[in-house]
Amino acid sequence: MAEKITIGELHLSGCTGCLVTLADNYEGLFKLLDDYADLVYALTLVDVRHVPEMDVCLVEGSCCLNDKTSVEELKEARAKSKVLVAYGGCAAYGNITRFSRGGQWNQPGHEAYVPISEVVDVDLYIPSCPPCPQQVRNVAVMAYLLLRGNDEQKNLATAYLTPLMQLAQRGNEACGCDLLYDVINQGLCMGCGTCAGTCPVRAITMEYGKPNVNRDLCIKCGACYAQCPRSWFNFDVMNNYEGIMDAINGAMQ
Ligand code: SF4
Ligand code: SF4
Repeated sequence: MAEKITIGELHLSGCTGCLVTLADNYEGLFKLLDDYADLVYALTLVDVRHVPEMDVCLVEGSCCLNDKTSVEELKEARAKSKVLVAYGGCAAYGNITRFSRGGQWNQPGHEAYVPISEVVDVDLYIPSCPPCPQQVRNVAVMAYLLLRGNDEQKNLATAYLTPLMQLAQRGNEACGCDLLYDVINQGLCMGCGTCAGTCPVRAITMEYGKPNVNRDLCIKCGACYAQCPRSWFNFDVMNNYEGIMDAINGAMQ
């Protein structure tokens, strides 16, 4: 078996729910850490105080521009990582921290919280609040295959990771309104209801076969648009679906 890759988690203005999501792979996490990846940085789990060199850095949380340490750590993580991942809705889109406006004791000046791509270049997104355990596991396995695999495995890993990279290229603003602007208004919605099933706060209801978004409930996590099969449906992934699933299932056995 090839040498393991190194993975770290940088915790910024997040709730640790994304890290819990990684742990929610249960035995899959042990398999991952036994065979494919060493966890070299994660202040909740690993007693390493300074940002090390990493193959993959999962960044959880948005970045508070009023907190110098957060900004510096994020820039350091970017400089020391081959692949920087916005892990979860806060890192990718700001999520609930989009509603921050300061004025709270004991740091009333902490008011500016931004998606991490406002500060550094981001390679790929794992959206939602929380993200899906299988998806972060898949990204870790695919990063391993990309960095250590043979040509066929590298091609599969590229097919899997490219859409998540494209999501990062698309921008750092998310809202249920994305469904209106980029799916329904484009004549693409087929009324499947995936968006409503995905929303973690039930901000979406299906009315007359189309999603209706309650914007007062929406926390701007980006899950609905990412999961909508008419948003960024990617043929590279779907054409390689069986190979990708075989590779992941094989790796996890
Ligand atoms: S997931 Fe996309 S296609 Fe399906 S109902 Fe929602 S907006 Fe329409
Ligand atoms: S509508 Fe729901 S899933 Fe979509 S961005 Fe808002 S909170 Fe997230």
